[in-house]
Amino acid sequence: MKKYVFVTGGVCSSLGKGLAAASIGTLLECHGLRVCMVKIDPYLNVDAGTMSPYQHGEVYVTDDGAETDLDLGNYYRFTSSPVSRKQSITTGQVYQEVIRKEREGQYLGKTVQVIPHITDEIKRRIVVAGNDNDAEVTVIEIGGTVGDMESVPFLEAARQFGHDVGRDNVVFVHLTLVPMVAGEEFKTKPTQHSAKALREIGIQPDVLLCRSAKPLDEEMKRKISLFTNVHRDAVISAYDIDGTIYEIPLVYGNQGFDEIVLKKLELDYKEADKSRWENVVEIYSNPKDTVKIGMVGKYINLNDSYKSINEALIHGGIANQVTVEIVRIDSEDLEKAEDIGAVLSQVDGILIPGGFGKRGIEGMILAAGWARENNLPTLGICLGMQIMTIEYARNVAGMKDANSTEFVPECEAPVISLLEEQTDVKDYGGTMRLGLSESHLKDGSLIRECYGEPLIHERHRHRYEVSVKYREILEESGLIVGGTTPGNQLVESVQWPDHCWSTGVQFHPEFTSKPTEPHPLFAGFIKGALENKE
Ligand code: GLN
Repeated sequence: MKKYVFVTGGVCSSLGKGLAAASIGTLLECHGLRVCMVKIDPYLNVDAGTMSPYQHGEVYVTDDGAETDLDLGNYYRFTSSPVSRKQSITTGQVYQEVIRKEREGQYLGKTVQVIPHITDEIKRRIVVAGNDNDAEVTVIEIGGTVGDMESVPFLEAARQFGHDVGRDNVVFVHLTLVPMVAGEEFKTKPTQHSAKALREIGIQPDVLLCRSAKPLDEEMKRKISLFTNVHRDAVISAYDIDGTIYEIPLVYGNQGFDEIVLKKLELDYKEADKSRWENVVEIYSNPKDTVKIGMVGKYINLNDSYKSINEALIHGGIANQVTVEIVRIDSEDLEKAEDIGAVLSQVDGILIPGGFGKRGIEGMILAAGWARENNLPTLGICLGMQIMTIEYARNVAGMKDANSTEFVPECEAPVISLLEEQTDVKDYGGTMRLGLSESHLKDGSLIRECYGEPLIHERHRHRYEVSVKYREILEESGLIVGGTTPGNQLVESVQWPDHCWSTGVQFHPEFTSKPTEPHPLFAGFIKGALENKE
């Protein structure tokens, strides 16, 4: 029998439900179980593709090209769960499917309603997602906060799910907040109310994960237990930690969280092997050195807009046993800066991340120019690679007006442009190169050295490409094309000549880095930055 763990959130948003769900997955895997993680987003957008990073943070891209919520990135980093289109469910998808069936007459004249038609479609999707990977346990995170109007159909579907498959096969985990007011006193009332709100819709939580600034003591746990009907052992203190997020599974595990879930689900399990995670925490906590990386972008003030890159940099640090300190550099500020060198000489390397639209572009080009001329290690990702190319075209290949047609459609030297056949397409939802595809790496290039193999597969999310027409001029001027699509067709990677460490990639390596398996490009970049520092 398949087992299901539903994760809901109460009191307020931003309590870290994604990390909590991912940590549950991690712990179950430590016991040798196969898990599948599913994210439910109660918004009407069909996917996250059209959303600005200001709204929900980064758009996480899967192998199959789905543009999803960033929590799928957390799942990928913490577990071996498949992450694909199926593991990301939104209200938009659910309604689109039900309305499609209604138009096709599949409901045979019935009145189509939220219950049962929408809830049935939600349950169907959860089962389908969990069938991937032959998972023994499916962990479903329901976005939003209990009490939100948007999440009502999903919570109702979760309630029905427990009823359908039997309560021995489902665990409800509820994440709440235990705030501290007037100095030192913990308040349990919001948690009591939030558990009550869940009970009102027919869900009795089995486990409470209580977020708090400091660990909750025995008395607090007893009090919460008494008022919420949750067993005392199942009240877990999810207190703030100083170190790394990768310690969270260990914090839960130390309080017996995994055993409670496994017993409730009546699962046979092996003794947990948490050594891989203990190892990550150990390395993170005992660094040999610190490396400062400047992130030169435009959504820089929002922590979540470059979520996967931030994490991948930390993983690169783990690979080299150093702490990576991320210095946020707003590219628009650089445009106005009097002395760029004064800003950039503070860091040991820069990373120019992906992005869309014209704003802040010139600041990134200035940063790339300074880094190239001053031998500052540079990693350019997607837009970042295009920036490295434009800068090189302008300042080395002598094409003063080089640009991307994304920013200046009529520019004189469009070194970055849309592929011919894409130019007339106006439907922004599906014109991008999305998902996993193959790149061939050139012998002798830095990227080839990092990966240690000539053929790689990485995830893409972009519309523009290095122009086939200008590639020859750029290469003649010394730009190294370190990677291409099959048949040497499109540029996948560039490198500056005579430079200590530089690589631009058209794809997104950050999506596939894990703390337990740091991505080779990030490991290589941090190594380059460390050597530059020394
Ligand atoms: N805006 C660029 C393009 O569409 C880069 C996209 C990105 O960085 N993800 O090609």
